[in-house]
Amino acid sequence: VPELPEVETVCRGLNQLTLGKPIQGGEVLLHRTLAYPLCVDEFLDGITGTAIAFWNRRGKYLLAQLVNADGISQGMLGVHLRMTGQLLWLEQKEPISKHTRLRLFFPDNQELRFVDTRTFGKVWGIPPHTPPEKIITGLQKMGLEPFSDGFSVEHLKERLKTRKRAIKTLLLEQELVAGIGNIYADEALFKSGIQPTMMACELTSTQIERLHQAILEVLQKGIDEGGTTFSSFRGVTGVNGNYSGVAWVYGRFGQACRVCGTSIERIKLAGRSSHFCPKCQNSK
Ligand SMILES: [Zn+2]
Repeated sequence: VPELPEVETVCRGLNQLTLGKPIQGGEVLLHRTLAYPLCVDEFLDGITGTAIAFWNRRGKYLLAQLVNADGISQGMLGVHLRMTGQLLWLEQKEPISKHTRLRLFFPDNQELRFVDTRTFGKVWGIPPHTPPEKIITGLQKMGLEPFSDGFSVEHLKERLKTRKRAIKTLLLEQELVAGIGNIYADEALFKSGIQPTMMACELTSTQIERLHQAILEVLQKGIDEGGTTFSSFRGVTGVNGNYSGVAWVYGRFGQACRVCGTSIERIKLAGRSSHFCPKCQNSK
């Protein structure tokens, strides 16, 4: 499941390949992939003839700024990959897999193809002069970007001190900080020595400092490795990075902790599997 480092990798790939080329048309193969507007013709009419000025990532969302030939804003294109969505930059003649949900056509027989096995992924066409959060509700309550200046230790302390919820659960909700999912949350909690079930308001100052540091470290490492730290993630050209498989705890239930040798435990929290070392993650 793509998290911040994987989506950032896609964003960078799209910025290298897709900019400045006019969208010549498209095709929606699965209607429910299109989240807005619900009318396919309206969606295609809105984007055809525009070009992508740049891609941004916000949390796990991708947002493309669309412009006309004079560089004037024509709205945006939003994409959320959810569980299995992939954006691929291909030649149009590449065989269409049965999981292809949406296609955008570019000059020189190129296309941007949205492939999604589980079909939870979404695409939005955001009209001109419309704030994206008005159309994409998931953006409304989203917390700060972890690499933004505002995401300081003090900010994190302030946000956690009154929360009577498990820290892992809060990390998964995007309101505390944007872009973290199950894998990077487990890894950040291991690195900071915090059990996933710990109540956020009971974390010590030192623990929050360690957590802040660990969040930035695991995400930066994931970005540096092109999103392939923990999965066989594929970039926009379909190339699989080097899966390094070096998780501390994620997916290692029953295996020996790489630090102390204790068996890694797994519990359910907020419907998701949480992995942790009962010995290393037990300090204040
Ligand atoms: Zn351990």
